[in-house]
Amino acid sequence: MSLKFALVGNPNCGKTTLFNELTGSNAYVGNWPGVTIERKEGKYKNQDQDINIIDLPGIYSLSPYTPEEIIARNYIMEEAPDAIINIVDATNPERNLYLTTQILETDYPVVIALNMIDQVEKSGDKVNLEALSEVLGVPVVPISALKGKGITKLMEAAIKVSGKRRQGKNIFNHPDLNHSIAAIQEVVLTSGIAHPLFYAVKLLESDPMVLGKNSFAPFIKQIKEIQDKAAKAYGSDDFEAIIASLRYDYLSTYCTPLIKKDREDGALSTSDKIDRVLTHRIFGIPLFLLAMLLVFHLTFATNLFGLEGIPGPGVFLQGLMKSLISAIASGLTFALQAGGASPWLIALVIDGIIGGVGAVASFIPQIGIMFLFLSIMEDSGYMSRGAFIMDRALRKFGLSGKSFIPMIMGFGCGVTGILATRTLECEKDRRITAMLIPFMSCGAKAPIYALFAGVLFADHAGLMTFSIYLIGIIAAIISGIILKNTVFRGKVSPFVMELPTYHFPQAKTLLKHAWEKLKGFVVRAGTILILATIVIWFLSNFGIDSGGFGMVDANSQKSVLGIIGSAIQPLFVPLGFAAGDQGWKAIIAILTGLVGKEMVVSTMGVLYSPGINGNEYASDTTGTVLASTVAGIFSPAAALAFMAFNLLTIPCISSVAVMRSEMNSNKWSIFIIAFWLITSWVVSFLIYQVVTMMGF
Ligand code: GDP
Ligand code: MG
Repeated sequence: MSLKFALVGNPNCGKTTLFNELTGSNAYVGNWPGVTIERKEGKYKNQDQDINIIDLPGIYSLSPYTPEEIIARNYIMEEAPDAIINIVDATNPERNLYLTTQILETDYPVVIALNMIDQVEKSGDKVNLEALSEVLGVPVVPISALKGKGITKLMEAAIKVSGKRRQGKNIFNHPDLNHSIAAIQEVVLTSGIAHPLFYAVKLLESDPMVLGKNSFAPFIKQIKEIQDKAAKAYGSDDFEAIIASLRYDYLSTYCTPLIKKDREDGALSTSDKIDRVLTHRIFGIPLFLLAMLLVFHLTFATNLFGLEGIPGPGVFLQGLMKSLISAIASGLTFALQAGGASPWLIALVIDGIIGGVGAVASFIPQIGIMFLFLSIMEDSGYMSRGAFIMDRALRKFGLSGKSFIPMIMGFGCGVTGILATRTLECEKDRRITAMLIPFMSCGAKAPIYALFAGVLFADHAGLMTFSIYLIGIIAAIISGIILKNTVFRGKVSPFVMELPTYHFPQAKTLLKHAWEKLKGFVVRAGTILILATIVIWFLSNFGIDSGGFGMVDANSQKSVLGIIGSAIQPLFVPLGFAAGDQGWKAIIAILTGLVGKEMVVSTMGVLYSPGINGNEYASDTTGTVLASTVAGIFSPAAALAFMAFNLLTIPCISSVAVMRSEMNSNKWSIFIIAFWLITSWVVSFLIYQVVTMMGF
């Protein structure tokens, strides 16, 4: 016989870690609530018996508000798991057990996995397991999902309870309320529904989705009468609030004292001590910015900590990658020439494919390094502090720190960031956040900065790149404030986010997370980028001249791309980077960037290549021509304006598509696209004008 166990718990309590431990599968282990949107299933690996494990999205309660909560509750209530494994983060018992009190109201067999027990032990706290299990009426098994401890015992307990019937447990210490609940329970029982206590409580609370169930339709009138009577008796009809506070009463009286802080009163845990500094009211933000600056310095610095000639790890790896690419290019050129290939074929392969894709590929290791450092910040728990600090600062302006989490994901990829806005309850906040996420510079945009910063601001490449990211963040904050006070007026939704205990990230998990972020980038470089650069090569080598349509001087204004670019050139001239007879190239790079932001640099790689001179193929296998051309054409002011434009403008087509489907409204989608376009133009214009005035 096969069994089905559901993993249920708060976000970040360790469900996915436990899931991976149980199933041995390779599901994503994230630090942010909301990553696990789809449901994950797997088979328990150490058992002859067939046991299916389901990893549900993290939830704080069984009264759903967010899409994740709805998915999780529907699963629990509709799909009849054989047992619920309720994971409780022992370092955060109150909030986690709040959900437990609701799970206990169902009739499902339940076992509690008291997770992070390693942390509890480390801080010297003690849990009275027998008493806790006695109070809750279900087995409590201490585990460490991370260290793989207690897992077998947990599964034994789950298998054991799954064979026994259980009845919902009422924990409310309030005779009048219990009387009303019992009355509703009696009414709905006549329909023969399972989990009568659970449903009675939800019906008393007027949970809209439960009230809307067909099976309850015949009882609506009777329930309303019971509610009215109860409201008179307690002088309030906000049953949800009354019930929530009774749950907390129960927890603080009976449960949390059993998870005892064994420290002397007032003594702080290590995490608390660290937080005293890192989330300090005044130093918190500068320290966070400093940490980010360090990440960018390590990624982009040509002189590590100012040491002449010693590159940072990012630049060092990029150098290796460049040598590899140019070796491949030289080898190919030699082979093609030896094989008697025509100059234009050599040019297509070397300039088009290797030039275009190579320009991007050379940045892969560097971006990998950046993702690795960002993953360290995430996995150690510091990134959550970033959200917390930001929330404190931005709340005054009507912005919620909750938006900050999807936004930070935007540093990896805008698509995942926009998807993560599902964790925001308020529709207005979702729209604002989705609008601002592309301002958080994604990984695909990094090669643009690496190219310009490396060439034009060599000594300060890290600082320059950091400033670009900062421009994005500042643009997001300012437009957020403006939007919140105009188009999206409304109150700030409360920010409940636990600060996970700090821990040393594990190398394996770190590499996995960095790879998750980098993967899409590598795959795109190997697929769509190759195709796109071939198309661009053709469009930049063919065009119209005196002889009609045909091959024209490579990368000239007569090429198809030259004609298109020159036509819209006037719109961009005020931004400084589009002047002159080469100006159209920057515009084409921006346009192709809509396919994917990597295309900006790979297009430049194609368009600034020397091409075919006369009948001879001139190659640029080391990217030196691209670099020196860029340095010759762009002034620092123009380069900054170009970077800022790409940073803020319409993101790649995948992000736009996801934004459209998440917003579910053409009107808003058009508004948002216009917003991106206008913001990028205005900011880029201001940057060019101001920096030029300063004399750069
Ligand atoms: P989910 O959101 O419930 O799926 O939680 P995750 O499985 O993604 O875990 C959240 C964080 O808690 C990760 O950084 C895990 O490494 C960490 N974690 C999970 N279980 C344990 C544990 O038993 N002990 C410790 N110290 N950390 C854990
Ligand atoms: Mg998870």
